[in-house]
Formats: sequence, C-alpha cells, structure tokens
Amino acid sequence: IERSSILRKKYKIHVSGHGAPSPLESFAELSSRYKCKPYLLQNLSERGFREPTPIQRQAIPILLSKRDCFACAPTGSGKTLAFLCPILMKIKPGSKNGVKAVILCPTRELAAQTARECKKLAKGRKFYIKLMTKELSTSGNFEKMPCDIIISTPLRLDFVIRKRKLDLSRVKYLVLDEADKLFELGFMEQIDSVVKACSKTTVVRSLFSATLPESVEKLASTVMVDAVRVNVGRKNS
Ligand code: ADP
Ligand code: MG
Repeated sequence: IERSSILRKKYKIHVSGHGAPSPLESFAELSSRYKCKPYLLQNLSERGFREPTPIQRQAIPILLSKRDCFACAPTGSGKTLAFLCPILMKIKPGSKNGVKAVILCPTRELAAQTARECKKLAKGRKFYIKLMTKELSTSGNFEKMPCDIIISTPLRLDFVIRKRKLDLSRVKYLVLDEADKLFELGFMEQIDSVVKACSKTTVVRSLFSATLPESVEKLASTVMVDAVRVNVGRKNS
C-alpha cells in the first residue's frame, strides 16, 4: 500500500474505488507480476516503448485484475496501450469459439489506427484481429470467420449485431475508447446495443477519455459496475 501511494504520487496518478492494484514500476513487471509472455515485452521494446506512461502504469494492472476501469488521461498519454496490453495478455489467440474482445472507437480512422497498433503488439502470436470495415460489416461470414479481437465504430458493430447476428456473448473485454467523442457524436443507442450484446456476466468493461464532461460521467455510471477510476494529469473532480 505504501509502495502504491509513493508510485501514484510520483506519476500524478489519482485513483478512487476500492482494491485498486498497485501501479507498474516497469514493463518488466508484466512478466514478473503477471506472467506476461516474452513476445509482448519484445514487441513493446521493438516499438521503442521503454517505460509505461502513467495511465498505463495504473490502468493495466486494474484491467489485468478484471476490474472495470474508468480512465481519464490527456490526449497523447498512451491510452491505447493501456487497454491493448491487458487484452493481449488475458485472451487466448486462435480461439474458435468467438470474439473475446471488443474495442469501440468514435471514428473509422481511429479504429484503423487502433487495429494497426494492436497487430504490431500482437506480432508473433496468432491472434485474429479484425477491423470492422464496411465490407466486413455487410458481407463478412461471422459464423465461419475466426476472430479474437474486433475493433469497430459503434454504428458498424451495432449494425452487425442486429442484422448479421454476430455473437458477442463470450466477450471478456469491452473497451469504449475516446468516450467523450463517442458521446459527442451521439452514439449512445449503439453503445447500449453493444454493451447488451457483450452479455457474459464476467465481462470487464472499460472507458477511456481525454476529458471528463458530465456526459462521460453519466455514460460511465450506466455502463460500468464498481469501476476503479483513474485520473492522470488532473485532479479527481
Ligand atoms: P492517447 O490515446 O492517450 O491519445 P496514444 O495511445 O495514441 O495516446 O499514444 C500516443 C503516442 O504515444 C503514440 O505515438 C504511441 O505510440 C506513444 N506511446 C504509447 N505508449 C508509450 C510508451 N510507453 N512509451 C513511449 N511512447 C508511447
Ligand atoms: Mg486514444
């Protein structure tokens, strides 16, 4: 506990919610503490990522401990890796029984960028990582297609859930990235549909945002149960 508060002070990490695990001191701790496979550390190092950013230090252990997480940190602070690392560590690649992780992004560009980052980090492991393109959403054969991780905008994923009967009932991790933009763009109905479709009782939900308007607070409280809140770079409001 002492160690946790020293690290949080050092990196200006503000946490609320009970039982939050202590922040990472280094990426190496992913293997010593969480038995991370060597490929991921290798890929992080190849990408030039030597040390976790503050939001990564705290959000990664929270998601690895299967707690819902509501994370707020400025643009450019490394939020993408904060959810990709735990997903890659906690789901098995090449699964034949359905989607294990869903990442919702507000725009197609962001979804594409997140998919690229995910593939780079997953290099060397046989994860099936799918970007929900227009073509995939209208003509993909989801019953036959192996898929571990889906990255999509809310509109396309909601469309696929309703019209093409994509089964998300085994999803273990659901991420709402750039929650402030998701809300601004008016995707509440679609988000609701995705949250309902990810129906596994043990699904871990997380919400990442650069700002904390009232709307995001409200979204967080409707989507998540007993979440750990993390704020970096500003006071917990
Ligand atoms: P955010 O989503 O918070 O706006 P990103 O996840 O897009 O931020 O990351 C911003 C930039 O920081 C990206 O270029 C990313 O590659 C880089 N980055 C992420 N994590 C690290 C790290 N641990 N060390 C160095 N650079 C990092
Ligand atoms: Mg981001």
